[in-house]
Amino acid sequence: FSYSFFNLPQKLLENLESVGYEIPTPVQMQVIPAALSRRNLLVSAETGSGKTASFLVPVVARCSEVRLRHPEAKKRPLALVLAPTRELCVQVEEQAKLLGKGLPFKTALVIGGDALAGQVHRLRQGIEVIIGTPGRIIDLLTKHPNFELDEVCILVLDEVDCMLQKGFRDQLMQIFQALSQPQVLMFSATILPDVEKMASLMAKDLICISA
Ligand code: AMP
Repeated sequence: FSYSFFNLPQKLLENLESVGYEIPTPVQMQVIPAALSRRNLLVSAETGSGKTASFLVPVVARCSEVRLRHPEAKKRPLALVLAPTRELCVQVEEQAKLLGKGLPFKTALVIGGDALAGQVHRLRQGIEVIIGTPGRIIDLLTKHPNFELDEVCILVLDEVDCMLQKGFRDQLMQIFQALSQPQVLMFSATILPDVEKMASLMAKDLICISA
């Protein structure tokens, strides 16, 4: 089985080859087709399973497809990835850049540590995906209330269990409410009741995947 069995842009297939991914991992085999068919997913997956690419592949495919179809449209963010730590966000962005190379797919980090102003400047230049920590995204929404997230069509919550442990529950719900009913892809090492509860609040017709 190879990535070419999924309906993906040719350039993305080439990028997967360049990074040395030949055979989809078990979690990718399940997540990629379900995410491409716009399902809401709750995925139980550990670090090391290839979970990052399992959401980035459909995110890159969907965002670049939208941009190629409407090249003249204002470039508001189309996807939002939330992760518990700055370090994880940086890693996700690195992988996103590799997979999105040569496609209309630009990334922006919205994380603590650097000035928010610089990050907002990058956002305004027109990007496809925001990768950020919940606290900083709330900052963005609070300080720049006219910043539009209404075109975000995919919301990814990575390491949800960890974000809930860090007390981000209310922030996550607040961010979700600022979006217009996006497709939701949730990843968690352990699926505890608080994770399930949040998933059911955010998404109807959830598919649960464990690989
Ligand atoms: P993750 O679970 O996302 O932290 O990924 C774990 C590691 O697996 C990362 O270093 C990825 O670069 C790598 N990886 C992801 N998908 C594949 C694949 N299909 N083949 C080989 N390595 C992969």
